[in-house]
Amino acid sequence: MAASPKLPPFDPADPLGIDDLLEPEDLAVRDTVRAWARDRVVPYVGRWYEDGELPQIRELARELGAIGALGMSLTGYGCAGASAVQYGLACLELEAADSGIRSLVSVQGSLAMYAIHRFGSEEQKLGWLPRMAAGDAIGCFGLTEPDHGSDPAAMRTFAKRDGTDWVLDGRKMWITNGSVAAVAVVWAQTEGGIRGFVVPTDTPGFSAPEIKHKWSLRASVTSELVLDGVRLPADAVLPDVTGLRGPLSCLSHARYGIVWGAMGAARSCFETAVDYARSREQFGRPIGGFQLTQAKLADMAVELHKGILLAHHLGRRMDAGRLRPEQVSFGKLNNVREAIEICRTARTILGANGISLEYPVMRHATNLESVLTYEGTVEMHQLVLGKALTGLDAFR
Ligand SMILES: Cc1cc2nc3c(=O)[nH]c(=O)nc-3n(C[C@H](O)[C@H](O)[C@H](O)COP(=O)(O)OP(=O)(O)OC[C@H]3O[C@@H](n4cnc5c(N)ncnc54)[C@H](O)[C@@H]3O)c2cc1C
Repeated sequence: MAASPKLPPFDPADPLGIDDLLEPEDLAVRDTVRAWARDRVVPYVGRWYEDGELPQIRELARELGAIGALGMSLTGYGCAGASAVQYGLACLELEAADSGIRSLVSVQGSLAMYAIHRFGSEEQKLGWLPRMAAGDAIGCFGLTEPDHGSDPAAMRTFAKRDGTDWVLDGRKMWITNGSVAAVAVVWAQTEGGIRGFVVPTDTPGFSAPEIKHKWSLRASVTSELVLDGVRLPADAVLPDVTGLRGPLSCLSHARYGIVWGAMGAARSCFETAVDYARSREQFGRPIGGFQLTQAKLADMAVELHKGILLAHHLGRRMDAGRLRPEQVSFGKLNNVREAIEICRTARTILGANGISLEYPVMRHATNLESVLTYEGTVEMHQLVLGKALTGLDAFR
């Protein structure tokens, strides 16, 4: 009888052996981003969160540019040209530090840069992408309005022609990076349908007051965009797209990053809970020794690593050019929902300490409330899947 092959040891950090699916370059990207986040975000983010600010955002953006994390999966124009899996791994590591940092990177790369890269003119690409990839210019993406969130087709922001110029009027709401952006990609109604505009934020009539009093994503800049007679030259419009297809394809790209990122927040909470359960003693022994705590940890590990496996599967499909938007909805719906559940369960394991900013758990849990809503709410992704499964549109 042939000897049974020697099995690799069980790795609590990678119980399914998912790392075996990664190439050495994937691991190198992951390690680089993990080290950056560990050194430059983790020690400080509790304070930023408590203060409700991201004080070094420009410096952080340049550092993220230096490690190739901005517009990471785009090619040319100073972008890293990384694979979708590598981009996903980066999102996971960034969100393990804080969802606000991952949001900065997602909005910069997957929304603002992606829109210019995919739909922009050569002049727009040359003018903005190298600076954005380096982190010298921060971008934002204005789709949501005060009265139009899940239904962006009903947006009121309007761009009208005046001679060859465009003149934009309207309001955008909840815009990540808005107040610190050098450039805003703004979506507006025109007589010919929805169009995207590349708006330098120093254009007269443009302002971006910061939204305060958030109890989620506190280490992230979120703003209103005010457009009062913003006059732009003819070449400010993104030439290669008309209609909602433009912003929706950018959102699909950003959502893909969230599928990975949410598992980063979950991993941080899970690891914190395991450490705590091994050292916290009640009734004369570590709480990790009680069956009820072990059941929680086992269930958290199952959902965490299933979620990472799902993200990896979607990443491989994206790299093969076979990822459908419905599959991204599947991933975002599952992974954000499960990540929140993991964070909440971790919170219970930490008891009263679970609500303290001394630990990352409550910060991640409240951050994920935004992640659950932005880039399409849970309900929108359920409706996307419901329509794909039944052929019946339940949106209206
Ligand atoms: C921190 C943060 C950062 C953000 N950053 C950006 C950004 O950078 N750029 C940007 O453009 N936007 C951004 N957003 C906005 C975000 O994308 C929207 O909040 C989101 O699309 C939901 O819109 P809403 O908040 O207006 O909710 P609404 O659309 O008003 O929805 C409210 C509730 O009604 C439900 N609902 C709506 N329609 C239906 C229906 N047909 N059937 C069943 N349920 C329905 C929703 O699912 C939700 O539960 C950000 C939001 C947050 C919180």
